[in-house]
Amino acid sequence: MENTNIPELFGSLVFDDKVMRARLSEEVYSSLKKTMIENTRLDNRVADAVAEEMKNWAVENGATHYTHWFQPLTGITAEKHDSFITPSPDGGVIMEFSGKELIKGEPDASSFPSGGLRATFEARGYTAWDPTSFAFIKEHTLCIPTAFCSYSGDALDKKTPLLRSMQALNRQAKRILKLFGNDVKYVRTNVGPEQEYFLVDKEMFEKRPDLIYTGRTLFGAMPPKGQELDDHYFGMIKPRVSAFMKELNDELWKLGILAKTEHNEVAPAQHELAPIFSTTNVATDNNQLTMEIMKKVARKHGMVCLLHEKPFAGVNGSGKHNNWSIQTDEGANLLSPGETPEENAQFLLFLCAVIQAVDDYQDLLRLSVATAGNDHRLGANEAPPAIISVFLGDELTAILNAIKNDTPYEGTKKITMKLGVHSLPRFSRDTTDRNRTSPFAFTGNKFEFRSLGSSNSIACSNIMLNAAVAESLKQYADRLENATDFENELHELIKEIIKGHERIIFNGNGYGEEWIEEATKVRGLSNLKTTADAMPHLLDEQNKTMLMEHKVFTESELHSRCEIMLENYCKSVNIEGHTMVDMVRKSYLPSIEEYLYSLAKTTSLKKSINENVKCNYEITTLERLSELSDNILQATLKLEDDLTGLLDSENIIETSEKVRDEVLPAMEELRKYVDEAEMLTSEKYWPYPSYGKLLFSVY
Ligand code: ADP
Ligand code: MG
Repeated sequence: MENTNIPELFGSLVFDDKVMRARLSEEVYSSLKKTMIENTRLDNRVADAVAEEMKNWAVENGATHYTHWFQPLTGITAEKHDSFITPSPDGGVIMEFSGKELIKGEPDASSFPSGGLRATFEARGYTAWDPTSFAFIKEHTLCIPTAFCSYSGDALDKKTPLLRSMQALNRQAKRILKLFGNDVKYVRTNVGPEQEYFLVDKEMFEKRPDLIYTGRTLFGAMPPKGQELDDHYFGMIKPRVSAFMKELNDELWKLGILAKTEHNEVAPAQHELAPIFSTTNVATDNNQLTMEIMKKVARKHGMVCLLHEKPFAGVNGSGKHNNWSIQTDEGANLLSPGETPEENAQFLLFLCAVIQAVDDYQDLLRLSVATAGNDHRLGANEAPPAIISVFLGDELTAILNAIKNDTPYEGTKKITMKLGVHSLPRFSRDTTDRNRTSPFAFTGNKFEFRSLGSSNSIACSNIMLNAAVAESLKQYADRLENATDFENELHELIKEIIKGHERIIFNGNGYGEEWIEEATKVRGLSNLKTTADAMPHLLDEQNKTMLMEHKVFTESELHSRCEIMLENYCKSVNIEGHTMVDMVRKSYLPSIEEYLYSLAKTTSLKKSINENVKCNYEITTLERLSELSDNILQATLKLEDDLTGLLDSENIIETSEKVRDEVLPAMEELRKYVDEAEMLTSEKYWPYPSYGKLLFSVY
C-alpha cells in the first residue's frame, strides 16, 4: 500500500489542526485553540466534545486503544493502553472515550523512578493532557501526549518542567519586548534537533551480549580500517540503509514529524536525520518518537539502530545538535539581527541574555547532557569538550568588543557600522563562520547546543537553557523598566553584560589542550568531566534558587532528579561491568584457552617429529596470550570486587564517585587486555563478531 502523495501522507496519523478544524464545531474548536495558545483551562463540555471526535477519528483510522503517552524520568516514553470498548446493554460493546479520560489518566506507575518524590504506597501518579502537542495514532493506539505528576503535584516527568521553562521564558521575554514597544501575545522557543545514530546488521548485533545489554561494545579491537579516509561522511547511502531511510521518513511524516535531511556521518555505519524545527515541547515529543521509530523500522530491515553515544571505541560517537531560537507569535525570530538600529539593539540584548545565561549556568547546561554514555564523547576530540563556551564568530565578537570599548567597529564589507541612535552598530546577518568544536555556537539566527548525546531527551537541555535565559531577561527587565533614560540605560547594560561575561566567548579550537588550560586556569570556566562531577551541581544554591524562582522545579523535584540521574549513571555502569565479567568468564577466557591448547598441541606435535623445529609463531603467541589471559583474570577479579555491593550504599554521590574512580578504570583495564588478545587469536576461536564485521557488514 504505497502512498506516494507526501502532502496527503503527511500528518495522516495526527489529530492536528486541520483535522480539528474539520471535525470540531466552531465553538469547541476556538475554545480548544484558546487553551492551546493562552494556556487556559479547558472546560468539561469542550473536553467531552474533543474526546468524542478524537475517538471517532482514531477509530476510523484503525485505532482500538488509547494511551496517555508520557516521558518518565527514565528518559524514554511510557504508555499503558486502554481499549475504547465499554459494554453496552445488549451484551455487545460500544467504543467510548470521555473528556475526563482525555484530560486525566492514572497509570499504575509505582515502578517509575521518582527519586523519593512519591512513596510506593501512594503509587498512583496521574497524567494530564498537553493540548499543545497533537494526539497521534501509533500501532492501533491513540496516543495522547501528557504530563506525569504525583498527587501532590510534583513533576515525575520531563515534559512538565519543560512546559514550565517555556512559560518562564515567555513571561520575561514579553517584558523585554514591551520595553521596545512590541506587545506580543506570546514568545516561544523553537528547536530543531539533529539526530545521529548507527545501523548494524541484526545478525551481528544478536551475537554481541554487550550490545544487547548495554547498547555499546565493551570490547573490540580496531579493524584495519576505521574512519580515517573520511569516505563515509556524506557518502553514497547504501541500498539497505536507503530503504530504511525511506520507510523511516514515511512513518515520521505520517506522524506529522518534519523529517527533512538525512546523510551519512563521519564514522562507518553512522548516519544523521534532521527535522525542520518546531516549538520546543513538540520538537521534544517528536524527537522521542523519532528515536523509537528509528529502532522499530531498522528491525524490519534486518538491522539494529544504535542510539548509544559511544557504541564503538576508536570511531566517532553519536550526538544530537539542539538548534534553538526564540520566536514571537508574529513569527519574528528574536535571535535574528534586524534591519534597523532599534531592532539590532533588541537583538543584541537577547544575544547578551543567552551569553550571560550560558556563563552563569554553565554547570546546568553541562549536567543537562550528563549520562554514562555521553561521558565517553565529551572531551574525546570528536565532540565538544565538557567545558561549556559560546562561539559567536569573529565579526559578532568584534562588534561586541566595539560596544564594550566604545570604539567604532571596522568590519568587513558585509557589515555596515552605523553609530548613532544608541551607539549600536548596524550589521547584516549570515556573517558567521563555522566552528564544529564549540559546544554552543551562534549560527546566524539561532544557537546550536552541540553537547547533547544521541540518546538524551532534549527536554533536559531545553529546560535549563530556557530557564537560564529567562533569568537573564528578568534581570534586564527589572532594571530597564525602572530606567529614566531607556536608551542610555540599555547601552550601559549591554556594555556591562559584555564585560561581565566575555570569558564565556571562545572562537578558537575547542579540542585543543591549550583551550582546557586557558578555560580552566585563566578564565575560570568549569570543566566537569563526568556525570559524577556534574550532577551534584544541580543542587548548588545559585542553581536551585534560579530554577525555583522561575517555577521550573520545586526543591523536592530537584533533589529527586539529582538522585535519579546519578542512579541511572551507577546502574548503567554496573550493568556494563557485569556484562564484561560475564563475557570474559563465559567466552573470552575459554576461547583463548582453546586457542592456547591448539598452539601448545601443535608445538609439541611438531617437536615430537623433529625437536629442532623452531615453532616461533606458536611459542611467542602462546607466551604472550598466556600472559594476557593471566592479566585478564586479574583485571576481572578486580572488577568483580569493585562491583560487589556497588549499589547497596544509601549514599548515591559516594557510589557515583566509586563508579568514576574505580569501576570505570577497572573496566578500561580489562578491555585493554582482551582487545590485545583479540589481535593475537585466530578468528576461528574468537567468540564474538569483530569491529570490522559490525561496522562494515551493512551494504
Ligand atoms: P546545518 O546545521 O547542517 O547547516 P541547518 O542550520 O540548516 O543545518 O539546520 C539544522 C537544524 O536547525 C534543522 O533542524 C533546522 O530546522 C534547525 N533550524 C533552522 N533554523 C532554526 C531556527 N530559527 N530555530 C531553531 N532551529 C532552527
Ligand atoms: Mg547543524
